Amino acid sequence: MCRASIHCIIPPYMVDKLVESGSKTISARGVENKFRSYRFRSDRIFFSAVSDSVRASLGFRRKARTAKPVLEVYTAGNKTSLPGRLLKRGRSGYTDKDAERVYQGGLHTWNLYYDMFGRNSIDGNGMAIIQSIHYGVKYQNAFWNGRQMVYGDGDGTIFGSFTSDVDIIAHELTHGVMQYSSNLDYQNQSGALNESFSDVFGIMVKQRMLNQDVKASDWLIGANVLIGDEYAIRSMKEPGSAYRNHPVLGSDPQPATMAEYKELPNTPEGDWGGVHINSGIPNFAFYVAAFNRGGYAWNTIGRIWYTAMTDTARMPHDATFTMAKEATLYHARQLFGEGSLELNAVSQGWKEAGVE
Ligand SMILES: [Zn+2]
Repeated sequence: MCRASIHCIIPPYMVDKLVESGSKTISARGVENKFRSYRFRSDRIFFSAVSDSVRASLGFRRKARTAKPVLEVYTAGNKTSLPGRLLKRGRSGYTDKDAERVYQGGLHTWNLYYDMFGRNSIDGNGMAIIQSIHYGVKYQNAFWNGRQMVYGDGDGTIFGSFTSDVDIIAHELTHGVMQYSSNLDYQNQSGALNESFSDVFGIMVKQRMLNQDVKASDWLIGANVLIGDEYAIRSMKEPGSAYRNHPVLGSDPQPATMAEYKELPNTPEGDWGGVHINSGIPNFAFYVAAFNRGGYAWNTIGRIWYTAMTDTARMPHDATFTMAKEATLYHARQLFGEGSLELNAVSQGWKEAGVE
């Protein structure tokens, strides 16, 4: 599980339910999940800290002068060495459906960032988007390890393939963007904001791909990955309702407002101060703002969130919810003006989430 700064989509409180389940098979996979996350923690920390020249010598590829997405898909072949074997894409796409999904997901994510915000890839400088599928055996997670994306196949009972939701692909790639922008500390409120920004851009990539406005969107993260029509991993519209009474996972613990803020220890067991839990609050603020503004989220409130995420002066690495509120209000004013629909919507969003 995500014991530290490795950005897995399945949070520790879900993995713990797997480990504690009465089933030997489910429990064994949960333990495997924890073990892998420990291994990758150091990778993530290392890759976020090294300089550009070290990165270049490690083979981080860039195409700085061309604003075209560079996408590479590998298969780990159910083993655990990364990136694995490079797959070739034919004229009609990849033969492996997981490969095609992550390719399309990566492309839609690149397109949103480039078309809407002028950002050329994860680092803003044309970095190749590297994704590995079929990681491990029935591995139940997806993560950004500081240099690439990794997807497990899921166990087929609780979780389907982690390539099944474009919002998850975009969520994880946004952890990469975050690493190259405000790089928010993965603990407490800054960690919950880090998680929330990933959900915000995850849902916008899905909405834009499906041409959905704020009313048409389901505002769900991981609706397909978590098996069962009534289950998803998170709901931005109604945090705490993504899954209820799941036979193994129990119920979604996310709060929507500060009144329900969960004070959790900054430990692995406490989800590092509840980074995947309290993210429900800024998620809800974004949802209310986007919904009140109406139309396509990426044209309006999404621009405000992007500008705030990349404003390292107003969003330092240890930013709080209040600082995120101030940063988004500031950029709403700058981008859309005093008295604008957007400024009012952002203000209403944070108000309904109870952030002062
Ligand atoms: Zn995440």
